[in-house]
Amino acid sequence: MEDILPLQLNGQDLDRPIIISGPCSAETEEQVLTTAHELSQNGIKIFRAGIWKPRTKPGGFEGVGVPGLEWLKKVKEETGMATSTEVATRAHVEAALAAGVDLLWIGARTSANPFAMQEIADALADAKADVPVLVKNPVNPDLELWIGALQRIYNAGIRRLGAIHRGFSAYGKHLYRNLPQWHIPIELRRRMPNLPIICDPSHIGGKRELVAPLSQQAMDMGFDGLIIESHCEPDSAWSDKSQQVTPDVLNYILNTLVLRSESQSTENLTLLRQQIDTIDNELLETLNKRMRVSREIGQYKKEHRMPVLQAARYDDIMQTRVKLAEEMGMSAEFMRTVLAAIHEESVRQQINVLNQR
Ligand code: PEP
Ligand code: MN
Repeated sequence: MEDILPLQLNGQDLDRPIIISGPCSAETEEQVLTTAHELSQNGIKIFRAGIWKPRTKPGGFEGVGVPGLEWLKKVKEETGMATSTEVATRAHVEAALAAGVDLLWIGARTSANPFAMQEIADALADAKADVPVLVKNPVNPDLELWIGALQRIYNAGIRRLGAIHRGFSAYGKHLYRNLPQWHIPIELRRRMPNLPIICDPSHIGGKRELVAPLSQQAMDMGFDGLIIESHCEPDSAWSDKSQQVTPDVLNYILNTLVLRSESQSTENLTLLRQQIDTIDNELLETLNKRMRVSREIGQYKKEHRMPVLQAARYDDIMQTRVKLAEEMGMSAEFMRTVLAAIHEESVRQQINVLNQR
């Protein structure tokens, strides 16, 4: 997929950061148009609204359906904004294209389903569609499935293709509604360097107050844009109300974003990176020294017929090191992970010693 093209609307490349905003769901004509006008006055160029809503349980608001497409047409006529919506079936694709929706995205539940993805891809190919398509990450943290979904759309002839990182679902209570697992979109960037990646802080955070810090993090990591849910009256939204912000709050969030360009202060960065390289070398040397001592201990245990694993000693190492790490400002979780990995390698090396004759 080396010939993926930059995202464009009306023949124009989109400036970074690409901002897409609008309500989770189109609810009424008035709500759609009021929100769109407020966004447009604040300079937003791409409007989003869910017309068909995938809901976890039956009985929730499942979207207004086809009549909502007329409201999107009005948004375009009255504000000049480009419009976008989520498609999940062949019928959605056909209806959205017929209504002149400018950009389509595929939701996280759909991108997890190869049958649904193929149906959408076939509908795009049959229509010889030339719309930009954004594919959200599947709900489960599976990069191959995400790439597979993108490939299906690419194989349908779509070259203006992008990804949306909206976080990954996890069981139990967490700070985030969907865990960011940033390493996954970062690995996607490494594998497909010319694929634009847009962050969806609204669905990652699930809470209004997390939208700004997540947006900043995404920009710091070099994402190409943001899709943020906004609503003229978030507290009365019919879906995802706790994560939607007003157009004015959105404006504030965007104005406080710090955009760092690649070329900015590269000299200082080079110096700092050299320091990191040196420290990493020292870390490796230190770890190697530790392994050497571990092997000597292995030799001692072998000669004295002692078992390799000594739980009390391990617990003691964990406790003292984790406490020290916390005093130094590192997280206990991080230290436990590092120690567990070091311990695993030490045990492996000691077992090698035991097995030597
Ligand atoms: C949405 O964008 O409103 C939506 C349903 O998102 P997701 O597919 O990421 O859950
Ligand atoms: Mn939503």
